[in-house]
Amino acid sequence: MSQSKGRQLRRRKGTDLLRKRSPGLQGTYEGTCIVCLRPTDTACALKGDAEFIIAGLYKAGLPMKEAADTVSFVTGNPSGMVPRGELEFMARVCQKCANKAGLQVAVVYEGAAVPCYYEHDMVGLA
Ligand SMILES: [Zn+2]
Repeated sequence: MSQSKGRQLRRRKGTDLLRKRSPGLQGTYEGTCIVCLRPTDTACALKGDAEFIIAGLYKAGLPMKEAADTVSFVTGNPSGMVPRGELEFMARVCQKCANKAGLQVAVVYEGAAVPCYYEHDMVGLA
């Protein structure tokens, strides 16, 4: 759910224009890395409050404003607003971007588990 809303965010907010890469052959960013927008089949998850998710997306390589806007949008809030409480966010991140950020990712397929970073376990994002 979060990934499709993330794509809608990019389309709706016109951030495509800020990105260097073009959408895929279907004209969308489906199945692409949230950071570099290259097609990927790997992902990781973040679980914690909104600020933790934003920090995690920033750590993955998104600009801070885009990380914050992504969390606002996927939670149905206007830009700059985020909900209280624990959220779970799965993001496609390619192996190259994950390596750069020091994150672990796994191949996504139906029923698969991907590495999840928890707020109470900041070791993965340190
Ligand atoms: Zn990437």
